[in-house]
Amino acid sequence: MDDLPEQQTRTMHLIREHPDFQLHLGFDACCTCGKAFSSAAFAMTCPGCHRVKYCSESCRQKDSEAISLTNLADVGQEEEMDSAMGHSSVMCALLRCCQDDEVVKDNESPTDMDRKRVQAARDRIQSELESYPATLANVISEGPCYQSVLRLKASTTKTLIVHVVGASDDAELWDLSKDGGSDNVFVAYTEALSDLATSRGLDVIKLVFVGPDCPDTNVDVRKSFQSFENPKAIFGELQIQTLKGLYNEDRLDQHGLQKPDIVIFFNPGFTVPEYSWNEALASIEKGTPFLSTTNTELEGVADCQYLMEQDKIETIPPGLAHIFDLCSEGNEETDDEGSPGTGTAFFSVNPFSGSRIRQSGTLANDIFVKNRWILGGILNSFDLSKANSDTSSKRRRAASDSKFNNPALI
Ligand SMILES: [Zn+2]
Ligand SMILES: [Zn+2]
Repeated sequence: MDDLPEQQTRTMHLIREHPDFQLHLGFDACCTCGKAFSSAAFAMTCPGCHRVKYCSESCRQKDSEAISLTNLADVGQEEEMDSAMGHSSVMCALLRCCQDDEVVKDNESPTDMDRKRVQAARDRIQSELESYPATLANVISEGPCYQSVLRLKASTTKTLIVHVVGASDDAELWDLSKDGGSDNVFVAYTEALSDLATSRGLDVIKLVFVGPDCPDTNVDVRKSFQSFENPKAIFGELQIQTLKGLYNEDRLDQHGLQKPDIVIFFNPGFTVPEYSWNEALASIEKGTPFLSTTNTELEGVADCQYLMEQDKIETIPPGLAHIFDLCSEGNEETDDEGSPGTGTAFFSVNPFSGSRIRQSGTLANDIFVKNRWILGGILNSFDLSKANSDTSSKRRRAASDSKFNNPALI
């Protein structure tokens, strides 16, 4: 998993020639040359994984050549992974796992797969579901930006309120409304959060899932925390609510919900054009710690840039500093002010993501793991009194330039 290749397809040459490029490479257009498949056009599919399409055998070969060229150069395994740009044998093998997982997701026991393969696929699917409660509980327990609110709550109300913003039925809630009322998902969150509650002296954790794709019927359940050593002893409870609709102050008021102590965004896509996060972010109180996840490093960089440009976070997370530094190279603005070490923001690989690998819907050679990257910090920690200072304008300019200068983003 450490070597998972992300963002394998380089599309710059195609976009330069066709700036309005809208095709899905490897799906409705050749993965190598970008030629669109009309109904008459001959498209061939990779015989290994059956998940990437080409216009011809020569385009297919070209796409897997990058890796063999590096073999010739006699490079180490790691460099080989880094320089593999196309449909390497590793990529093909990972896409075969994607295929198995989708088959098993649709059909519990497919007849043309042996038991071991079916079980492996089931395990990967389950690990992705479990990544939501595991990430939430473990990152809150350990992340630097959550510690002071945890201490405060333990010494005052003994109740921690966590809002999962933009939650949806088919992700954070494990297809709750399709699963015939099973409470597996609530058991999983309870087990994951028991340790946090018992070790931090919290009596109640309120977990509120809010989003337009939450189940139609709002849920309100309570589960007792239990300790592993003494399963009969009960230490407080987890209160879980779901709320269908956009996250905003009116909606929280309407349902009598208290302000969150911590907010969580699983794969928010702050920069996607389809919807705006402004209202949701504006309704969160200044100083609230947040955790967000993304599927790829690239999306994590974009989300972090968005929050910085909106003045939602003050510091560059140390995990991103190398990217921002890279961008300011060659500009006059190479100074170390506002860089790592200050503040409690972080960006890193998520050790609690699952092992299910998914294929991107727009580039057949791109694969990702859900929630693989985590970004955290304090929302609205940006100090407006410093907004006009030299450092902050430099910081922001560096942040917005980087999208264009960073080779990883192209
Ligand atoms: Zn082609
Ligand atoms: Zn393949």
